[in-house]
Amino acid sequence: MTETKVLISEQQVMEKVAELAATLKEEYRDKHPLAIGILKGSFVFMADLIRMMGIPIEIEFVGLSSYGKGATESAGKIKLVQPLKTPVKGRHVLVIEDIVDTGLTLRFLLDYLKRKKPASLKLCALLDKPSRRKIDVPIDYLGFTVPNIFIVGYGLDWDERFRYLRDVCFVEV
Ligand code: 5GP
Repeated sequence: MTETKVLISEQQVMEKVAELAATLKEEYRDKHPLAIGILKGSFVFMADLIRMMGIPIEIEFVGLSSYGKGATESAGKIKLVQPLKTPVKGRHVLVIEDIVDTGLTLRFLLDYLKRKKPASLKLCALLDKPSRRKIDVPIDYLGFTVPNIFIVGYGLDWDERFRYLRDVCFVEV
């Protein structure tokens, strides 16, 4: 049995999401933003965030592969496995990510989106693991900074397990 331990409680997460949502609501009011979630880990965060923002917002998802099944180390190469279906040209784009680790995934996606000429392009991440950063990524809206441990729960998985946990937890690997 793999043990999980709570790092950030559900209540702390919800308070932080509400805080982020209040800021984003002011920023994106009247801009009809396009929120782009990175599959699969961001789906829980995104669902809570957009509902707390409470303003009209369009949502989209992209699939990017960085971790192999069962592995806890990024492969280093990023591939677009589910491309974007909505045009982003002239749109106010808000990328929503669960966790920024090496930064390789986000760097790839932000460069990809920038080439499509959005009106604005910002990043909102729930978690940041700066000790592992390999490439600089500006996080415009951040929830929590976390140490170099493997996070699960609140949408994040370990080999497809633990996504359903309500707290942000960690496993010892
Ligand atoms: P990066 O390209 O920044 O190294 O990795 C970003 C992606 O790696 C995240 O979207 C997430 O899918 C995965 N990842 C990085 N760190 C963790 C972690 O601690 N736990 C889980 N479950 N996934 C992680």
